[in-house]
Amino acid sequence: PAEPESPYRVVLLGASGVGKTAFASIFAGAADSMDSDDCELCVEELCEKEIEVDGEPAIITLVDMWDEQTDNEWTQEQYMQTADAYLLLYSITDRASFLRASELRITLRRFCPARHTPIILVGNKCDLVRRREVLTSGKDPHTPVCLFLFEAQPFRCVSLCDLAEGCACAAVFDCKFIETSAAMQHNVWESFYGIVRQLRLRRDSR
Ligand code: GDP
Repeated sequence: PAEPESPYRVVLLGASGVGKTAFASIFAGAADSMDSDDCELCVEELCEKEIEVDGEPAIITLVDMWDEQTDNEWTQEQYMQTADAYLLLYSITDRASFLRASELRITLRRFCPARHTPIILVGNKCDLVRRREVLTSGKDPHTPVCLFLFEAQPFRCVSLCDLAEGCACAAVFDCKFIETSAAMQHNVWESFYGIVRQLRLRRDSR
């Protein structure tokens, strides 16, 4: 069997209340009490775990330490500079969190401009359809139609009329996009798999 690569450090970013803790719990397997030693190493807001993606093992160290309250720029900078990949979350029910995600994307670019660090823009809480404040595809809001569609150039211009907001933002900001529901456990693992796939693409293109 293939040996897993060395751990990938994946950092959860986003405004408070968007579902980062919920993501981390699903990753850690906390939702499944029978599976309590599923997580090989869990210390507070850090969890390391081996998962299988496309038949190949991968180790992810998931970091959920992002604190919007902190004005300690040094700490924020540390998270931004020490990650192999990011899940940049917003809530589809909270427009401000979507704008915050855009800001964080710009900050990320500033801290690691040269590295093609994989980022997936995650629109969480897609189960709360009636409270939606951030649009996606008008045709079928439940399907992440833009999932891994965009291999956009940095800051490629896209028409906001042609694309839905979450997708458009992902394209403009040069990252992938997925809608999830941590509450329904919908697409959460897909976002982790997507990160691993992107990291492997980057590895294989070296
Ligand atoms: P964090 O501040 O980013 O860590 O956000 P949390 O994970 O603590 O989530 C904030 C609140 O949103 C909690 O009450 C969660 O139960 C709830 N929540 C998280 N994800 C979802 C989701 O996908 N759907 C719904 N309906 N609620 C969610």
